[in-house]
Amino acid sequence: MFKEIQAQLQSHQHLLAVSKLQPLEKVELLFQQGQIHFGENYIQEALEKIKLINNPHLKWHLIGSLQSNKVKFLQKNFEYIHAVDSMKIARLISENAQKINYVQKVFIQINISNEVTKSGFSIDEFEELWPQLASLAHLKIVGLMTMPPLQNEAEQNRQIFRKLKTLADKYHLKELSMGTSHDYKVALSEGSTWIRLGTILFGERTK
Ligand SMILES: *Cc1c(COP(=O)(O)O)cnc(C)c1O
Repeated sequence: MFKEIQAQLQSHQHLLAVSKLQPLEKVELLFQQGQIHFGENYIQEALEKIKLINNPHLKWHLIGSLQSNKVKFLQKNFEYIHAVDSMKIARLISENAQKINYVQKVFIQINISNEVTKSGFSIDEFEELWPQLASLAHLKIVGLMTMPPLQNEAEQNRQIFRKLKTLADKYHLKELSMGTSHDYKVALSEGSTWIRLGTILFGERTK
C-alpha cells in the first residue's frame, strides 16, 4: 500500500505515517522502505517511541491536541505540531520554544464544520486572532489542519477541505494537513499537502 500511496502524491504533497498505537517494529519497517515522517497523537507514547527508536533520520509530528501541562515535554522532539487549537496553547508552545532557542513549526487546527465536540478555531476566531498568532516569535505557522467528523463519507468532506484551502490561501499559508485513510484521495484532489494515514498503512491499531 505504501508504494501505491506514494505514487499518488505530487511533488509538494507528503505522506505522514500515523503510528499512534502501532508497534515499533512496524515503524522501523516502514522507515526501511523509505518513509521519513511519522505522526503521533499522545505525547507520552511519542516520547517513548522517539527514545526507543533513537534514529535522528526519522522526523516526528505531533498530531493530537496538546494539554497545557504537557507543553514542557515538547523540547525539540517534533518537527511539526498539527493541532494547535487555542490561542493559549499557541502562546505556551511559543514561550516554551523560546526558552530552548527553537522555532516550532505548527499547523493551526480549524474546526470548519463548527462541531461543538471538536477542538480547533472556528473560521471567524482564526481570522480575528490571526494577528496575535502571527506575532508569536517562536512559532512558524506553516499551514492549517482539519479533522472532519469521523462519521462522514469521504465525499462529504470535499467541501470542508475546500474551505480549509480557501482560508489558507487567503493568509498565504502553503501547507494543508488534511485527509486520513478513508478520505485521503478527496483531500489530495482538494490540495492537501500532508495526508495523515494510519490504518491504511499499518493495519488496525492495537489498544
Ligand atoms: C488517528 C489519526 C489519523 C489517522 O487516522 P487513520 O484513519 O488511521 O488513517 C489522522 N489524523 C489524526 C488527527 C488522527 O488522530
